[in-house]
Amino acid sequence: MVNKDQHEVTQKSILEDFGIDDTFRDTLATVDENGKRIWLFPKMPEGFFYNARKYVSYFLLALMIGIPFIKINGHPIFLLNVVQRKFILFGQVFWPQDFYLAAIGFITFIVFIILFTVIFGRVWCGWACPQTIFMEIIFRRIEYWIEGDAAQQKRLYESKWTPDKIKKRIAKHSLFLLVSFLLAHIALAWVVGIEQVAKNFTTPPSQNMAGFIPMVASTLIIYGIYIRFREQMCTTFCPYGRLQGVLLGNDTMVVAYDYERGEPRGKVKDKEAKNLGDCIDCNLCVKVCPTGIDIRNGTQLECVNCTACIDACDSIMDKLDRPKKLIGFHSTDSIKSGKAFKLSARQKAYSVLMALVMGLLFALIFMRSDVESTVLRNPGTLYYTNDDGTISNLYKVQIVNKTFDAIPFTLSTDFEGARIELVGSDGEHALPASEETEVTFFIYIPREKIKDLSTKVNVYVKTPDGKLLDKDRTSFLGPMTAG
Ligand code: SF4
Ligand code: SF4
Repeated sequence: MVNKDQHEVTQKSILEDFGIDDTFRDTLATVDENGKRIWLFPKMPEGFFYNARKYVSYFLLALMIGIPFIKINGHPIFLLNVVQRKFILFGQVFWPQDFYLAAIGFITFIVFIILFTVIFGRVWCGWACPQTIFMEIIFRRIEYWIEGDAAQQKRLYESKWTPDKIKKRIAKHSLFLLVSFLLAHIALAWVVGIEQVAKNFTTPPSQNMAGFIPMVASTLIIYGIYIRFREQMCTTFCPYGRLQGVLLGNDTMVVAYDYERGEPRGKVKDKEAKNLGDCIDCNLCVKVCPTGIDIRNGTQLECVNCTACIDACDSIMDKLDRPKKLIGFHSTDSIKSGKAFKLSARQKAYSVLMALVMGLLFALIFMRSDVESTVLRNPGTLYYTNDDGTISNLYKVQIVNKTFDAIPFTLSTDFEGARIELVGSDGEHALPASEETEVTFFIYIPREKIKDLSTKVNVYVKTPDGKLLDKDRTSFLGPMTAG
């Protein structure tokens, strides 16, 4: 993997070779010399990649909106209720007892992100991140619809307040608020379930402050992000974006400018006379960039791989009757060698590793037991000597039923001569669906069978027809010597 310094040396020497000014490194594209934000007006993208991105986004938006409505046997397929610590993934309930799975899942997720980025760069950012999808496919298009393309938006921004500007601003802010309100409800449906969201919708706020406040807060946060922060979420706040400097290598596939083909750049009319490269310095790739950068300066942290510059440059190459992909999915190595991007041996090995860790996670999720029990000796008690010649110990068992169905159960042990009696038993026991149950019970063991002060005993949780649900091992206390 190439580190950031090596990368900078590579990019710097490339720029020096072509006599290109590299002072862009000293400034941010979105901040002027006084430290004031430069508001961006990206030109509306169009072309093959933009269309493909729209269809991928529609699919992901449909999943995001549709999943809270999908039920299996009346239960949501996904629920991420952090408040009540209730999680449902792929229709399976996860409890705090499954925390080890969350830890493994988190590690797997981090490994996956790292490996994926090392190979494919920021494809996630441009194509699947909700921030980009909402910004580029929903909010930006509302803006184009109401205020026009980049030049018209800029004119409107700089113009005085006229009735037309006020009308357009009111329309834009109202639609932004409405979409934020809807997105907030969808986000809440993933957390509290669609029924609770429907209840929030139909109950007056005075009777449902616990539902009303999160709804208002999420709406305002979403609205604030898309009306104000926009590309800053990717370039400044997102920790994943900040990691790019250490994750990207010379063989990583990124949106990149083929400087070997494009340089030296210059106007079309000078092309023959000055033996110029394919870049005609039209700046269209910069004008469409939602983060305001010039990709010809090399890979930069601000690039979210949205591919808008690929479409823009391809349209110019079409007009010039030159091959496409002057800007395209390249790696630094593939540009240098002039060969098409190919997965390296290291990237293939990483891909296999990614498949393995994901496989392990899914295996753990689907092999997880439906019932989990923990047997604990009753605190403060030792043992009882009974008239029938047995010794007994008092226990509590906590049993979590992770399924959506009640499960009848029995407790038993395989210790020779021992028996289990449940306290307050009427002979019928069932674990309520998706709940934790606590049961108190005695284990009786004939005194002559006890050889030690502490004897290990297995306790089995089974269904009445003998199917094992879970097994525990506990200590049974007895007198010092067998008697
Ligand atoms: S769009 Fe293509 S031709 Fe135009 S400046 Fe960018 S790289 Fe050069
Ligand atoms: S440089 Fe190109 S791919 Fe990167 S953010 Fe700008 S337009 Fe998108």
